[in-house]
Amino acid sequence: MERYDIAIIGTGPAGVSAAITAKVRNKKILLIGSKNLSSKVEMAHAIDNYPGLPGISGKELQTAFLKHLEEMEISVTEDKANGIYAMGEYFAIQGHSGNYEALSVILAVGVSVAKPYPGELENLGRGVSYCATCDAALYRGKSAIIAATSIEEEKEAEFLAQTADKVYYVPMYKEPAILHEGIEVVRQKPVSIEKNENGMRLVTEEGAIEADGIFLLREQIAPSQLVPGLKVTDNHIQVDREMRTNIKGLFACGDITGTPYQYIKSAGEGNVAALSAVRYLSELKR
Ligand SMILES: Cc1cc2nc3c(=O)[nH]c(=O)nc-3n(C[C@H](O)[C@H](O)[C@H](O)COP(=O)(O)OP(=O)(O)OC[C@H]3O[C@@H](n4cnc5c(N)ncnc54)[C@H](O)[C@@H]3O)c2cc1C
Repeated sequence: MERYDIAIIGTGPAGVSAAITAKVRNKKILLIGSKNLSSKVEMAHAIDNYPGLPGISGKELQTAFLKHLEEMEISVTEDKANGIYAMGEYFAIQGHSGNYEALSVILAVGVSVAKPYPGELENLGRGVSYCATCDAALYRGKSAIIAATSIEEEKEAEFLAQTADKVYYVPMYKEPAILHEGIEVVRQKPVSIEKNENGMRLVTEEGAIEADGIFLLREQIAPSQLVPGLKVTDNHIQVDREMRTNIKGLFACGDITGTPYQYIKSAGEGNVAALSAVRYLSELKR
């Protein structure tokens, strides 16, 4: 398998900045995220605190980031990391659409304000999963519920429906969910998760849906779930001033390392994380 020098997970200001710095330093990089970069950039009405760009809209900043990436010949690998594992000499990254390897990793995944549902963490890997494409094979001839926060997850439902007998799709976004007729769209608000002798139960404000398994597809996975052994406090990854985490070769930057949640702080930390990763790679060679 192709092995990258630095894998950068997340395409907000932190990840984009890390990718640019790593590329300037001639590293072989993998940038995993979305071709739309970050909804938190796209959504901003007017940004007044980004130096040199007063009043720029989120969409304009997004376009400027995309142009910068393109000019530097940095492509985005459209995927979502589901698990990152320190293997000793390298990191193995499990994505929804593929697996990757890199000597170092920069986490620039942004922060999620969503709290896990009661019953979610206790049943993770035992009926609850965060990746439908990864676990679809387990649902051959079975039923599953997908609760999704973004329209982009509809393709995960279509994929799962090719294997599972029955798929319930719970869209937690405003746009209409347009899925093929074998998928039952249920507009209800999830509250908690329960496990019983028949399988899993997604309890909602309106009632409950039962199936063999539940997939929770959010924009972010809690960092402690993403990387086993990662030190996290109050949902923020612990880093030092070099953006090093407690795992050698693994760096973090942006909102995920703590407040203030700001574009320029994220971009600045992305730059520091990339420089630290470059230093780490030269130490590895020695
Ligand atoms: C409406 C709004 C207005 C704002 N206005 C301002 C402002 O005026 N000034 C200011 O300084 N800040 C503002 N902010 C805050 C700013 O948006 C954030 O601080 C900034 O976007 C954080 O950048 P980031 O790169 O750390 O994370 P994000 O921008 O959140 O980017 C993280 C990216 O990583 C992706 N990701 C997550 N998990 C994975 C995974 N497992 N695999 C692959 N990709 C993953 C996410 O989908 C996302 O695209 C605003 C925020 C909002 C919501």
